[in-house]
Amino acid sequence: MPLESSSTASSPRDLTPTGQGAPLTGWLRRLKVGQKIGLGYGMALGIGIAGTALGIWVGDRYQRQAWQQETHARQEVNLLSTLQIAVLQTRTQQQQLIPLVRDRDAFQQAYQSLQERQVAVLKAWRQAATFMNEAEHSDELHTTEMPAFLERYDGAPEAYFQALTAVLDRLAPETIDTPAEIQTAQRLLLDFTNGSEALRFDGISADLVNLVKISESELEAAFAMREDAYNLRRWIILLSIVISGAIATLLAICTSRAIVHPLTTATAIAQRVRHDADFSLKVPITTNDEVGELSKTLNQLIKRVKLLLVEQQNAAQQRLIQSEKMSSLGRMVAGVAHEINNPVNFIYGNLDHANQYIQDLFDLIHTYEAEIPQPPSAVTDKAEDIDREFLEEDLPKLVQSMQVGAERIRQIVLSLRSFSRLDEADAHPVDLHECLESTLLILHNRIKQGVTITREFGEIPLVECYAGSMYQVFMNLLSNALDAMGSPETREPDQPAPEIRIVTERQGSDRVVIRIADNGPGISPENLDKIFETFFTTKPTGVGTGLGLSISRQIIEEKHGGRLVCRSSPGQGAEFVIELPLRPPAPEPNSEIIFTPAMANPR
Ligand code: ADP
Repeated sequence: MPLESSSTASSPRDLTPTGQGAPLTGWLRRLKVGQKIGLGYGMALGIGIAGTALGIWVGDRYQRQAWQQETHARQEVNLLSTLQIAVLQTRTQQQQLIPLVRDRDAFQQAYQSLQERQVAVLKAWRQAATFMNEAEHSDELHTTEMPAFLERYDGAPEAYFQALTAVLDRLAPETIDTPAEIQTAQRLLLDFTNGSEALRFDGISADLVNLVKISESELEAAFAMREDAYNLRRWIILLSIVISGAIATLLAICTSRAIVHPLTTATAIAQRVRHDADFSLKVPITTNDEVGELSKTLNQLIKRVKLLLVEQQNAAQQRLIQSEKMSSLGRMVAGVAHEINNPVNFIYGNLDHANQYIQDLFDLIHTYEAEIPQPPSAVTDKAEDIDREFLEEDLPKLVQSMQVGAERIRQIVLSLRSFSRLDEADAHPVDLHECLESTLLILHNRIKQGVTITREFGEIPLVECYAGSMYQVFMNLLSNALDAMGSPETREPDQPAPEIRIVTERQGSDRVVIRIADNGPGISPENLDKIFETFFTTKPTGVGTGLGLSISRQIIEEKHGGRLVCRSSPGQGAEFVIELPLRPPAPEPNSEIIFTPAMANPR
């Protein structure tokens, strides 16, 4: 078939454009468009959220550490400062006792205040020791300096206050009156101030200066750490926003490429197919998503259009061949009819004269017989030889049958002549009954095989139409009806006697209807939808071409502005109804005259 050969000869060309950018992964290709977009957004959003959450988490962690360190350092500074202040105040007040020895009341007051300081110092010392034992920290002060300090001055405050109490117990202020007593008491106090317990006690405040410094630097470190944690948190969040933004942009580009690129390719190819009518092009299928489906469908459509075009070309070619065949046949039939017409006219035209002459001759013989009652024996012998009486009786009959035969030949020739007027350019008033009769005459050979033709011709006017084309339609419909009913040999015994009913009637003021119905096997509903399609046939190859009804419909509907429909059901025969306007529409320029095989081969 040309269809197959053409499709294999030019296999569809794949137009995969080069330089497509980053190749898509197989996995990405399998995703649907919606999934790809969702994935892009999901990833960008996920990275944004994850980055921000990570930033907050890491920042919080560091900040919590910094805060703990800060609290610890702050507590340390507070405790150490409190202890240092208590020690320094104790020492100052203790030294202030020396000049107050002279003033009994003031001395007593300072002594009481000193006792309060003692409570404060011992409390601060205990708090510092407890804090060091309880809190777990790995800073230098906590791990080395403070334990060493506590160990170094372990019991020093108690020893100092015990020694001080002992000195003050020895000084009874009410017994000190004289300058010598005052001097002795002051010397005692001075000695205590420079004594080993007091100096050791002093060491506490001196060492605490160092420790407070260390503690303050730890506090500063905690501040710095908190600042660092805040900055880290800010940077991580900022960085994750930037990264997620960049990834979102990248994914947006990738997904839009993944979606748009195949679409652009498909569009470009569709445009090329339309513009260049190049149906060998094929859209490359690079994805499994909706765009891939679209490309597949487009490829199928291109293939289908290609097939349809090939079919259309074949149909046109077939029609041209048929047209050429039929116009040659038409010319030949017209020529033969013309050539037969003359001799038939001689015969037909002379038969009347011949009959008259024969009658005249018989009259002459009768006159001879009347005038010469006893003819010579040679005459009577000859009359007997030729059986004159029979001859006289039979010759007129013979001439009459020759007349009938010649009349029939004349009719056939006339039919052939009208039949062969296929390429007429204009519509003429036509007697459709005559047309039908001529067609039946040509099909006489097939009809006489036991088919009854019932004519129910109504009163219809002459119809302006293309007579040759109308013959063609009647020939197709009547041939199909005869084919459907089969030959006497193939007909089933229980089948009803074959009959073709031809009905003509007027419809309204401007139309006539011709019905050609048969009582054959009818047409199945699924075939009924297809019988007017070009090339649809149920007849064996070589017999049917599938062109008859499609061409008939074209003649009736397109050329004459009428309608051709078929009503049939299996077992109920088939009826073809032609509606014709009394006048056809003006012909379109270049309208084609079509011929059918039914005419080339009237079966
Ligand atoms: P062809 O006669 O070459 O097959 P047609 O176009 O004239 O092509 O007819 C198409 C088909 O329609 C036939 O093959 C036949 O199956 C069906 N058909 C036409 N007329 C009749 C009818 N009177 N009865 C049953 N089938 C018919």
